[in-house]
Amino acid sequence: MTQIRLYNSKTRRKEEFTPLKKENVRMYVCGPTVYDRAHLGNARPVVVFDILFRLLREVFGAENVTYARNFTDIDDKINARSLATGRSISEITEETITWYLDDMRELSTLDPNLMPRATLYISQMIEMSNNLIKKGHAYVAEGHVLFDVDSCPDYGVLSGRAIEDMIAGSRVEIAPYKRNPLDFVLWKPSSGETPGWESPWGFGRPGWHIECSAMVQEHFGESFDIHGGGNDLIFPHHENEIAQSKCAHPGGSFAQFWIHNEMLQVEGKKMSKSLDNFFTVRDLLNDGIPGEVVRFVLLSTHYGKPMDWTQKKVRDATLTLRKWHALVENVSPALLDDVILQNVSNDLNTPGALARMHELAKSGSVELLLSAGQFLGLLSPDEHWWFPKEPDNTVKNKVESLLALRTKAKVNRDFLKADLIRSQLLDAGIEVVDQPGGLSRAVFSSVFDPEKLG
Ligand code: AMP
Ligand code: ZN
Repeated sequence: MTQIRLYNSKTRRKEEFTPLKKENVRMYVCGPTVYDRAHLGNARPVVVFDILFRLLREVFGAENVTYARNFTDIDDKINARSLATGRSISEITEETITWYLDDMRELSTLDPNLMPRATLYISQMIEMSNNLIKKGHAYVAEGHVLFDVDSCPDYGVLSGRAIEDMIAGSRVEIAPYKRNPLDFVLWKPSSGETPGWESPWGFGRPGWHIECSAMVQEHFGESFDIHGGGNDLIFPHHENEIAQSKCAHPGGSFAQFWIHNEMLQVEGKKMSKSLDNFFTVRDLLNDGIPGEVVRFVLLSTHYGKPMDWTQKKVRDATLTLRKWHALVENVSPALLDDVILQNVSNDLNTPGALARMHELAKSGSVELLLSAGQFLGLLSPDEHWWFPKEPDNTVKNKVESLLALRTKAKVNRDFLKADLIRSQLLDAGIEVVDQPGGLSRAVFSSVFDPEKLG
């Protein structure tokens, strides 16, 4: 059987992955808070864990793998959006979940087997909070239930940081009712416009961290295989999940492997809603960038490294995929290439797998190229975007006259005008290739859009 090695954040080492039970491999990934369209950064973990899901299915058999990814559909950001727009919470969350699934499917990600929504697990969260109070790991103060960090000697294992650093380095909310500033909310009171449920501590709503612990417990039990998410979640979210789950169920070990993707960045900063430096997956699709291209670009950097999104990467990916699609047309896939499987099994080395695909393409091994593509969620026969589009005569004439204008401008040394025409053509997805003798030729790319010609 193929050996899978994964970098485990818990041990800070690459380790061989062996599931607790081969016939029941369980992976849980923290999903989105649903109040707005997913940005490209949010798509990174979705694509990364989709690759891991595909690998686990390949190695252990699809029927033996369960992938759960939650929807956080109760959160103060959702409440704020509801107040700001006058729309109901359920309207907002339903709409956002539909958007999310549509957008992520455009990136050829498989739906997880389970997509639990936090609001359907409130009773389990209340039960877990009660259990923690009874065991002396949580206390009630001013209508809140708080996890007592000092009752948990292992607190901090995952992030491996000293307690003082944790307080200094993150937004730990200081509140008078907390015994220790690191204590976190399991339950908090709701009033007026905020949604809530009846509980032993009054009308209220759960804190964020408890929801994942409760859903994991419900579907996977006390010990399971893989827990994933972006590395921005390590502290406090994942640290707190471990603390409350292990204190509630001391016999269990919670996740064996913790896998974290690095951040998608914009000019060296994490792409995030709060920094307002984001664009959504839908923005890219609306700009005519095929989902398959977005996926390829995301796979071209190892998940453990920060990455930037650049126009050059988009162009290169588009050209490569067009070439590969043309190569595998009318081809039947071979069995999966062993080198591809080795690469992906080696801590999800997707850049290595793509490099291997380049080799396969170069050597004409098109059947292996196709099976590799299908394994990685690329080169599906349902993709049609890459067909060369044949412009009609009106368009051709228009482009020709623009090219002639540009040539004339160059002859007149009006380079500003020449450049303007070139960028007008580029905006419409047409590349201008200059030829010897001052003439130029138009190349219609896959993102060619006659509407944009003006
Ligand atoms: P959120 O809805 O903010 O809780 O995020 C959903 C998922 O997206 C989590 O797994 C985050 O770690 C991940 N995430 C958020 N921002 C980025 C980013 N810029 N790059 C990669 N992953 C991110
Ligand atoms: Zn979570």
